[in-house]
Amino acid sequence: MPSQTLTDLHLEDLENLKPLDIAKLKRIGIESVLELATSIPQDLAEDIGDKPEKMSILIVEARKALTNIGLLSKEFCTAADIMTRRNQIMRCTTGSKSLDGLLGGGIETQALTEFAGEFGSGKSQLCHTLSVTANMAKARGGLGGNVIFIDTENTFRPERIHQIAEAYSIDPEKILSSIFVCKIYNSSHLEFVIKNIAKYLEEYRASLVIIDSIISLHRAEYSGRGTLWDRQQKLNSMLHRLTRLAEVYNIAFVLTNQVQSNPDATFAGDPTKVTGGNILAHATTYRIFFRKAGHNRIAVMQDSPYHEYGSVKFTISEKGVVDAEDDRKTGKANDSESGW
Ligand code: ATP
Ligand code: MG
Repeated sequence: MPSQTLTDLHLEDLENLKPLDIAKLKRIGIESVLELATSIPQDLAEDIGDKPEKMSILIVEARKALTNIGLLSKEFCTAADIMTRRNQIMRCTTGSKSLDGLLGGGIETQALTEFAGEFGSGKSQLCHTLSVTANMAKARGGLGGNVIFIDTENTFRPERIHQIAEAYSIDPEKILSSIFVCKIYNSSHLEFVIKNIAKYLEEYRASLVIIDSIISLHRAEYSGRGTLWDRQQKLNSMLHRLTRLAEVYNIAFVLTNQVQSNPDATFAGDPTKVTGGNILAHATTYRIFFRKAGHNRIAVMQDSPYHEYGSVKFTISEKGVVDAEDDRKTGKANDSESGW
């Protein structure tokens, strides 16, 4: 995280912004350069009542300012520059060597990682486990930072954090006071919190932000009103902002998404054919499907720009997410299974 607080960089610090535009932006709640840089032109145009083309120019000014101080990549940069930035990526263990292996060493900073799966497939259990492991030192596979847990389903349980921390021999009290939980009541509340997330990231010095789940409220609320397009727009705005912030702050975002498995597709070996599973498909960096298999869970890597397609087994224990028992016994935990 940068040492200066980015949210203190105000619109007035942008030389090319006219006072009238600044006033209009402030009227819709945009105060900082970061908020402007992570906005979508169409959203601003709608809120302000102006043309998207003009809003794009304002956003470009804000992005330029962040690029100049080295927080956003330039429009064109060398592959070597990108490599330097990617070398800063940190990885956080999921608790299972197999699952870490599938992810190339754990969940990454500078990325949005989506875990999609049916009910009871272990998404929330993984979120609880990551809340503990992210707090661990980097040498132990953690991110060495605090966690923000955005709970839209009222399934966050401090007791479970306590139990997992004890299993890792970490002081549970210390862990409990470094997880900042935000209970969300409806889709507008979630949009509001995400709009302001940069402030919370700085205030709570978070290295990992978990949103469990990203779309359940929108899915439920928009089934009776609005259109699919409206819902998609709201989700796109949120995900766009999170993608930029993951890059600027070098932090990890973990999102969950409940999907129904399509039994036919599972038998045919194609887990991508899931009902409602494609809503976030193009917005997240990595996408992993979870499926129940008796006591075990199967994780399948989808939609990754550089991970190979593969699947692994893991299970859930007192310690949270762990390797499947047979893999632990045979020491096979690092090997990916091929196919289903
Ligand atoms: P949903 O889509 O409904 O939110 P989910 O994918 O988040 O589902 P989880 O809540 O992560 O599902 O997983 C629930 C499962 O985790 C339970 O069915 C149980 O098998 C397992 N589980 C929960 N707590 C423990 C524990 N202490 N020890 C072992 N297994 C546990
Ligand atoms: Mg859950």
